[in-house]
Amino acid sequence: MVITSAEGAWVTDVTGRRYLDLLAGYSALNFGHRHPALVAAAVDQLGRVTLTSRAFHHDLLGAFCRELAQLTGTEMVLPMNTGAEAVESAIKTARLWAHRVKGVPEGTAEIVVAEGNFHGRTTTIVSFSTDEVARAGFGPFTPGFIVVPYGDLDALRAAMTSRTAAVLLEPVQGEAGVLVPPPGYLAGVRAACDDAGALMIADEIQSGLARTGELLALDHDDVRADLYTLGKALGGGILPVSAVVGRHAVLGVLRPGEHGSTFGGNPLACAVGRAVIALLASGEFQSRSRELGAYLHTRLRTLVEHGVAQVTGRGLWAGVHIAPGGPTGRMAAEALMARGVLCKENMPRHCASLPR
Ligand SMILES: *Cc1c(COP(=O)(O)O)cnc(C)c1O
Repeated sequence: MVITSAEGAWVTDVTGRRYLDLLAGYSALNFGHRHPALVAAAVDQLGRVTLTSRAFHHDLLGAFCRELAQLTGTEMVLPMNTGAEAVESAIKTARLWAHRVKGVPEGTAEIVVAEGNFHGRTTTIVSFSTDEVARAGFGPFTPGFIVVPYGDLDALRAAMTSRTAAVLLEPVQGEAGVLVPPPGYLAGVRAACDDAGALMIADEIQSGLARTGELLALDHDDVRADLYTLGKALGGGILPVSAVVGRHAVLGVLRPGEHGSTFGGNPLACAVGRAVIALLASGEFQSRSRELGAYLHTRLRTLVEHGVAQVTGRGLWAGVHIAPGGPTGRMAAEALMARGVLCKENMPRHCASLPR
């Protein structure tokens, strides 16, 4: 299919056919396509100034950072562009923090990550991917990462040492199949980090910003991370906007000149980002996701034992796991497309280790 226009939850292809877009740009379109408030903010800013570089300040950067910190209950904001850049920035920050604050000898800091992770596509990030298709052929890889099974607290604790800078994980693993970890796991990760004097980094790029029915997926468990990576919906589906947000004592280790971005925090990004923050501050999208998500999951669960092995996820975010012997995910997605519903198949290769 070839899309030519879109509005709200609907897209139209070149033949004029309409489809319900359930993928929602992998959470980049949490407010729907072309939300009027977001388009208006972008159009208005296009008539003023779009880019200054970070050599010069501009009049929206301070407000954007303050409002994003307020929204997320954090103290400091590092604006970037793509999600992968936010994750890279969090990795750099955690290493610097370990070397400068925790006292880990320079160049030996380790970051513990989870099997089945998806954090982006840069060479460092694919270095700790467990998806062979994402890795194969792209080496040599960046060292300093330890992979443990997702959802297994004992394995996590066993992997942590005095060199551990951080644990980096998705509160709900998106690309692994929209996997929600076992109850208590995320609070257990927090406790393990506290015990080891390590940072907890939550990659909320896909799970955050209302998709699961809360602002952040970690909010379901009342757990606070030291750093969060945000992206996707932060740009309202209009342009790439990402950020690392977190505690001042952590993000503040970066000194001027040690990190940067030509486009990060540009005026257009800040204008759209502030409009996104205003939508999220209203709580409307979180409650819509809770309400419609409960309905979606109730209805999807009726398919279990009718060709569906299980339905995972939270809010308006669901993974439908097809029972062995059924169609491939690709076939199911194409059959749904024929009925005017867009979703995306996935072939998680590493969810077997998830305790259930
Ligand atoms: C999409 C995604 C990323 C990478 O974001 P890009 O904007 O594609 O670089 C990182 N982490 C998670 C959890 C994601 O879903």
